[in-house]
Amino acid sequence: MVVFLRRTMALAIVIIVGTGVPAAMAAEIVVYSARKEHLVKPLFDAYKNETGVKITYITGHAGPLMQRLKAEGKNTPADILITVDAGNLWFAAKEGILQPVNSDILKNNVPSHLKEPNNLWFGLSIRARTIAYNKNKVKPGELSTYEDLGSAKWKGRLCLRTSKKVYNQSLVAMFIAEHGEKETERIVSSWVKNLATEPFFSDTKVMEAIGSGQCDGGIVNSYYYGRLEKKFDGLKLNPGEEENFPLALFWPNQDSAGVHVNVSGAGLIKHARHKERAIKFLEWLSSEKAQNLFTDSNMEYPVNPRVKAHPTVVSWGEFKQNVINVSKAGELQAASIKLMDRVGYR
Ligand code: FE
Repeated sequence: MVVFLRRTMALAIVIIVGTGVPAAMAAEIVVYSARKEHLVKPLFDAYKNETGVKITYITGHAGPLMQRLKAEGKNTPADILITVDAGNLWFAAKEGILQPVNSDILKNNVPSHLKEPNNLWFGLSIRARTIAYNKNKVKPGELSTYEDLGSAKWKGRLCLRTSKKVYNQSLVAMFIAEHGEKETERIVSSWVKNLATEPFFSDTKVMEAIGSGQCDGGIVNSYYYGRLEKKFDGLKLNPGEEENFPLALFWPNQDSAGVHVNVSGAGLIKHARHKERAIKFLEWLSSEKAQNLFTDSNMEYPVNPRVKAHPTVVSWGEFKQNVINVSKAGELQAASIKLMDRVGYR
């Protein structure tokens, strides 16, 4: 018996030495991330530097990651899911993958419309879905609301991204929450009638079409505008040359409910093995210290109202945001998809 014990102990020691990590220091969290590696790795490295907690992660598309978490069930090594769009986070909650986190820090740092009402997930960055327009063809005074993009003066001038993208499914779901189905159907149908061309497969394609004059305006997430801006900065255009790409953002509905916002965010996995440590990490992500690390690399807005966005993002101007709870994007997603199908929005 003694010999057996000694042998197992020796074996255990060999295993620990073999990993090169002393057992007491191997504090770890496991993250499944639908945000791309270049956006999350700097964050994980910073957390490791600050706390010594190592973050092991895999990245992938939201759908497959959530299916994997469901299949792994109790055996999952994952502690946290990070993904974009409230529609995806809502789906994860509905599938029973997440558990609630009752944290005063998160409550204090994340405004209530940007988190799941029962604390199953929390928004960590804000993405504004707003209007982009061609400065040579549209005067800002002509722009007012999302709804107005369906008016007669926009006939043949509008570009949209495909309705298959969750961003638009969430946007239309939020419209249903705000206006009801009947009025939303009227609005979306009026957009479809005004399209200059078939919907595009990306927000960037929409902006390129607007900038090149194929259409005059459209609806995009503001950070894609930031990406284009970065690209054009890199080209070091001479004064006047930017006229070749006369694109600008407009903040609609400022006299009504505000700009539609969505989030990227995170939730605690139901079967998390490192629950306390994972909650600490979620709290840190919402903190003044970490918010810019989470948002700036993708030109998004911090959720924490005490944190300022990246200077480039600030330069796009301030806006009032719509404060309908973003979980509506998920709740009404099925209705939204059906509605867009009914009005022929492809
Ligand atoms: Fe995106």
